[in-house]
Amino acid sequence: MSTTLITNIGEFFTGDLAAPEASVSSLLIEDGKIAALDRPAGTTADLIVDAEGAAILPGLVDGHIHPAFGEWTPTQDTIGWIGNYLHGGSTTMVSAGELHTPGLDYANLPPNLVTSLAEVAGATTGRVRWSGVKVHAGTPLLVPGMTDSHFDRLADAGTILAKFIFFPLEDNKGEALRYSAALRERGIRTKVHTGGVSRSGSSRICGYDTLSWLKPDIAAHVSGGPIPMSDGDMDELVDRTDFTLEVCSSGNYRSTLLLVHRLMETGQLHRLTLGTDTPGGTGVIPRGMLRNILFLAAICEMPPAEAIAVASGNTAKAHGLDVGVLEVGAPADLIIAGPVQGSAGTTLTDAIAHGDLPGISFVFIDGKPVVKTRSGQTPPPAVTAHYLDAPGCPFC
Ligand SMILES: [Zn+2]
Repeated sequence: MSTTLITNIGEFFTGDLAAPEASVSSLLIEDGKIAALDRPAGTTADLIVDAEGAAILPGLVDGHIHPAFGEWTPTQDTIGWIGNYLHGGSTTMVSAGELHTPGLDYANLPPNLVTSLAEVAGATTGRVRWSGVKVHAGTPLLVPGMTDSHFDRLADAGTILAKFIFFPLEDNKGEALRYSAALRERGIRTKVHTGGVSRSGSSRICGYDTLSWLKPDIAAHVSGGPIPMSDGDMDELVDRTDFTLEVCSSGNYRSTLLLVHRLMETGQLHRLTLGTDTPGGTGVIPRGMLRNILFLAAICEMPPAEAIAVASGNTAKAHGLDVGVLEVGAPADLIIAGPVQGSAGTTLTDAIAHGDLPGISFVFIDGKPVVKTRSGQTPPPAVTAHYLDAPGCPFC
C-alpha cells in the first residue's frame, strides 16, 4: 500500500457545490484514494508534501474536449496538448466527439462509420492515460439510421456520452427521442450542440424550441460555441427546463454573463458545468479551465469556491464520473495552488476573486504526483509546496 500525506493546507475546496469549502489542514491518500481528512496524530506516509499554507482543490474536469489522436490535435497542429492542459489543472476530460479526425466528410457519415470512429477513439485516445490524465474518448456523432446494434457496440466500447451535432433533429424527432432512450438504457448520456453552426459549417442551429422536446442530459456550450442562441432562448432554457447547461471557453462572454447571472439569481447553479470546447477553432488553451473559473468569479461575481465546484464536482457529476470532489473514498485527483508572485490576492480565494490566475505547484491523479513542485503552464506561486523527507519516498 502506498501512502501520501499532504500537510499544512491553507484553504480547502471540496468540489461539492452544497459545501464548497471546508476547514482541513491535512489529507491522507492511500492507494490512490483519499483515506482521511485531518490526519490522526502520529500518521506517517511514504511521501509527505508540505503545502506551505497553499490551497487544495479538486483536479478540474474539462467537460468538452475534441481529441483526435492521443496528444496530437490536427485543429491547430499541436502535439502534447493533453500534458499542457494537465499543467493548467485539468485531470479529467470528456470528449464531445472526435469530429476533427482528418479527412472526415461531414456530409457522408453513415451509422457504421460514426460507430466505428467512436470505437477506434475509445480504443486508442481513450485507452491510455496521456500524461496521466483521465480522458474519456469515443463519443459518437449521432446520425440518422442507427439501430440498437450500434448502441450495443458503443456500450461495449465504454462510451459514456453521445453527441447530437450533425443530426437533423427537427426532421427526425421520433428517431432522436428513441436514440436518447436507447442510449440511457445503456448508461450513455446525450449532449447536444446548441446555438449557431460551428467551424465545421455542418452543425445545426439549435435553441430552446429543439431542446425543450429533446431534453438532453447536457445542452452543450449554451452561451455559444462559438455562436450563442438568442437571449430569450437562453432565459427560457433556464426557466423552463431542468437539464445540465454547459458553458465553454469557446463561447460569447456577454451571453455567459447573462446565463450565469440568471442561474445564480434563480438558485440553479447545480445545473451549470464547464468545458473548454477545445482543441478547435478557439485554439489550444492549457489554462482554459482556470480561466473559466476566473470569468465566473471575477466577472460574474460567483463566490470563488462555488466556481471551483462548478469546474470540478458539478461537471464530473453531470457526466456520471466519480471524480471532482475531495471526500474520504474519492479518487485523489487534486491540485495544490496559491496566488502567483505579484498577485493582488492574499489567498487563492482572494486571487481568483481578483481575476488573477492561480499558480500550481502540484497535481495528483489517483494519488500519484503528475505535476511536481512547479506547473509548466502557470506563473510560479508565491509559496511553493514541496516534498518533506520521508522514509521510502522516491522523490525526496
Ligand atoms: Zn464542441
